[in-house]
Amino acid sequence: MDKIIKSVIFGKKARITLIDSTEAARKAAELHGLSPLAAAALGRALTAGAYIGTNLKTQKGSFSMIIKGGGPLGNIVVAGESGNKIRGFAANPLVDLPPKKNGKLDVGGAVGNNGSITVIKDLGLKRPYNGTCELVSGEIAEDFAYYLLKSEGIKSAVNLGVRVNSEGVAAAGGIIAEALPGIDDNMLFILEDIMSNLAEISSVLAEKGIDEVMDYYFGHLDAEILSKESLTLECNCSEQKIKNIVLGLGQKEAMDIVDEIGKLEVCCQFCNKKYVYNKEEVRKLWEK
Ligand SMILES: [Zn+2]
Repeated sequence: MDKIIKSVIFGKKARITLIDSTEAARKAAELHGLSPLAAAALGRALTAGAYIGTNLKTQKGSFSMIIKGGGPLGNIVVAGESGNKIRGFAANPLVDLPPKKNGKLDVGGAVGNNGSITVIKDLGLKRPYNGTCELVSGEIAEDFAYYLLKSEGIKSAVNLGVRVNSEGVAAAGGIIAEALPGIDDNMLFILEDIMSNLAEISSVLAEKGIDEVMDYYFGHLDAEILSKESLTLECNCSEQKIKNIVLGLGQKEAMDIVDEIGKLEVCCQFCNKKYVYNKEEVRKLWEK
């Protein structure tokens, strides 16, 4: 089961969020028939989304994140709710590019770096929070760290990783290390060293398991575990939401579609579930 461990180290002078998102990334890859490259990109984005979701600070919050880089993968959209539920999709699930010189999947090339990352958070307040900043590399981890700094004032280091083999997603996860007030140079030096040792975060998680990673890398650094939470890939689409989308089309438009092709079909982009209405059902939507 996927898991998030939140902790503070150095006597509350740095905050560590460890995320094992293997199941979520694997399920998303299967659901959308993703190429290995698309699976790596969406898996990284889902992990960043898991971090946003777990820090919503309200019981009934929700968020969405759009990564728009202008590359052949097209836009990546990730969304979720309080309770660590996430979902996501990429516009071009079959994208394929030659690997980079170091043999790694070229996520930056697929996403592109000519664009932005935008996060919208609904915390139940009058207005949703909306933050956006330009992409750095399209590799997502770097972009996300830059977003956190520019839009939320969080000074962090971010590692995100997805390991894909011939059978699909073998491992996925991430680590976000945030500097808190009072952190000193020595602590930053230690943290940088650990982050570079955890560069291959998905492989390390697959090898040791998330609890062991927490213990092994941070246990000796005056660490305090704040929470251990489960994470799931789950869509929140429903008959009611889809009805509202159809109603949003307008009666004429909806009836025109049914008249033309005999039915009205709405597919949820996040989970691929199809909602089909016949002529009678569409007509009834506008009754009462
Ligand atoms: Zn859905």
